[in-house]
Amino acid sequence: MRAAVLAVGSELLSTDRLDTNSLRLAALFEEHDAELIGKAVVGDDEAAIAAEIGRRLGRCDLLVVTGGLGPTADDVTREGCAAAVGRPLLDDPQVWAAIEQRFAAFGRRPSPNNRRQAQVIEGARVLPNERGSAPGLLLEAAGTTIFLFPGVPHELERMVERDLAPWLAGRSGGHGRERRTLRTAMRPESEVDQALAPAYLEFERRWITVLASPGEVRVRLTAAGPPAARGARLAAMVERVRQLLGETIYGEGEEGGLEQVVGDLLAARERTVATAESCTGGLLAERLTRVPGSSRYFPGAIVAYGNAEKVALLGVPAEMLERHGAVSEEVARAMAEGARRHFAVDYALAVTGIAGPEGGSAEKPVGTVHLALAAADETRHRAVRLIGDRERIRWQASQAALEMLRRRILAGDGNDAA
Ligand code: ATP
Ligand code: MG
Repeated sequence: MRAAVLAVGSELLSTDRLDTNSLRLAALFEEHDAELIGKAVVGDDEAAIAAEIGRRLGRCDLLVVTGGLGPTADDVTREGCAAAVGRPLLDDPQVWAAIEQRFAAFGRRPSPNNRRQAQVIEGARVLPNERGSAPGLLLEAAGTTIFLFPGVPHELERMVERDLAPWLAGRSGGHGRERRTLRTAMRPESEVDQALAPAYLEFERRWITVLASPGEVRVRLTAAGPPAARGARLAAMVERVRQLLGETIYGEGEEGGLEQVVGDLLAARERTVATAESCTGGLLAERLTRVPGSSRYFPGAIVAYGNAEKVALLGVPAEMLERHGAVSEEVARAMAEGARRHFAVDYALAVTGIAGPEGGSAEKPVGTVHLALAAADETRHRAVRLIGDRERIRWQASQAALEMLRRRILAGDGNDAA
């Protein structure tokens, strides 16, 4: 099944409005294993609409057009479509009666403009609009099924569910697509890609997508076919990828992030964490507290940006700062230990680094970040070199710190023995 989308509306060509209808439709096509071969946006222009519809006719099985069915003079989708398929527009008394009734329910009468909404392309079926006055239309031309839907997203939504989804389900005979996403943190995309090589061979490259964003790589797995078969295949893919990537997979799904996973682990094991932050300026604390219920395991943070504050608030020895500099393994460790003492927590995370754009040197370039994690038994340290602008470096530093903690909790901790 090949599908195409045409979004009509001059506002969609300006900076005012984003065409979100096509995204909604793309998601539906994916569910039903229909291939979206193209989408276009045109203004409220009859000739442009006719041209776009015309070039799709016979080249796809399904064309969905949204917008431009309203009563105003600039709503010309009906006219454009009629021209493209070479059929006249006819007044439909039933549609007109429905529009009159709808207005009467609000104690009003339709205006002459509304008459245009009662025009139907010859041979088309009318799709009632339960949430608005502009009905949709369904017609066939040159082997292409065309749906004309209103542009208002919540009107469209109802008609997608009521008319388009069953149509697609009927045509696909239960075939569809399902997707699952596995997430890893602080592992380079190339490394993830390499580790997945056996899965590419076993399941085919095109069903596995690797998506990188700062500090995070998502592995998106897709399976197509009838429900039982695709479900089984997807489960097998997930298991294989979990095998190949192991512990570096921190979670599943598109929602939430590392802070949620770390929070769940801390809550489940009744452990607490505090942070000592320099270059992240409280970002770690902000992320940890995004999670509802974080007060159970997160008492607070010390943001010690200046050297004097590292000494006064975290007990970092002044002479250590002098000798090694604020961005160093020694200082990171001392910060973590200082925070652990201060808050009396199981774990304390410390971050100190150079976020840039200034402040780098040959020895410590921008992106140099030292992380430390203090626990009952020992304090661990990790140094990373991060790439990107200031925001990205800060974000990745917070990501690296949370990942360090997640791994530590999973490995079991010195506190378990105590
Ligand atoms: P109706 O007759 O129900 O008013 P219509 O077909 O005339 O619908 P438009 O007038 O084109 O629809 O658009 C109505 C509203 O829907 C506008 O606010 C518009 O920005 C929004 N809209 C239209 N098309 C899209 C789209 N592709 N994505 C998101 N919003 C859209
Ligand atoms: Mg419009």
